[in-house]
Amino acid sequence: MKYAMDLDGCVVDWDKGFRQVWNRQHPFKPIPARNLHWESPFQDTGLSHTKFWKWIDEEGVYWNLPPCENSVAVMKTLIRGHDVWYVTNRHPVSEEVTLQWLKSYDIEAPVLHTSDKWEVDADIYVDDNDGNLYRYVTAHPDKSVIRVIRPWNSHICGTLSIYSIAELLG
Ligand SMILES: [Mg+2]
Repeated sequence: MKYAMDLDGCVVDWDKGFRQVWNRQHPFKPIPARNLHWESPFQDTGLSHTKFWKWIDEEGVYWNLPPCENSVAVMKTLIRGHDVWYVTNRHPVSEEVTLQWLKSYDIEAPVLHTSDKWEVDADIYVDDNDGNLYRYVTAHPDKSVIRVIRPWNSHICGTLSIYSIAELLG
């Protein structure tokens, strides 16, 4: 099976991690530990979308992100038995840090940086973003589209929902 696996929110605990980095840099103005919805990062930090993503890319936040619970073991198993591609909307400037992060956890696989995720051909698509899930279902109605349930997403018709990618090993 070919997997198109999203990174942030599925394999990488982006939410928890960026908040830890932010709070280390702003110890007197800490932000909450968790996102409530898709706009939380911008509302909590007080940064515009543009400034927020500039901070993420320039501060090397990606290097400091923890994996989601159990995701390293799950990815090792998936990569052993399947054709796994990471498909991420991270800015291409983060290509190297992304590869190094995956290497540091020994879960390397090809990484595609694209905002047009639905153009990727796969058997199983895994993501936590409503827009990506909707476009996967629309573009690939005959394939499996799996939503990793997070506070910032909602059920998209045609998707299967899981709480953790560990459920992929079923
Ligand atoms: Mg994601």
